[in-house]
Amino acid sequence: MKCNPELVSAFLDGELDDVILEAVIKHLMECEDCCQTLSHLAQVRDAITDQVTVSDPEAMTQSIMMAIQNERILPVKHTLHDRLMRVAAPVARAAAALSPMKTP
Ligand SMILES: [Zn+2]
Repeated sequence: MKCNPELVSAFLDGELDDVILEAVIKHLMECEDCCQTLSHLAQVRDAITDQVTVSDPEAMTQSIMMAIQNERILPVKHTLHDRLMRVAAPVARAAAALSPMKTP
C-alpha cells in the first residue's frame, strides 16, 4: 500500500477492519514516514502514558509481531476494539520510543 496518513490515524483510533489493519501494520514496519506519522499522532492524542526507552527499530517490529500473534492465538470472544487496542498499544509505545520529538 502507499503512504496514507488517514489510515494511520484510523489505525490509532482502532477503526480498521482486519484486512486493512494487517496492511497498515505491514506498511508501518517498512515505512519510516508512516511510523513518524503514527508517533506524532499518538503524541498529539496523548495516547501514550509511559515513555519507554526503546531505541531499537527491531524491538518495535517484535512488539508488533508479538501483538499480532497474541491476537491470533486468543479466542475470538474479544471485541474488535479489544483486539485492535492489543495491537495498537505496543505499536504506539514503540513508535513513541522511536520518535526524536519526546516531550518531558
Ligand atoms: Zn508510508
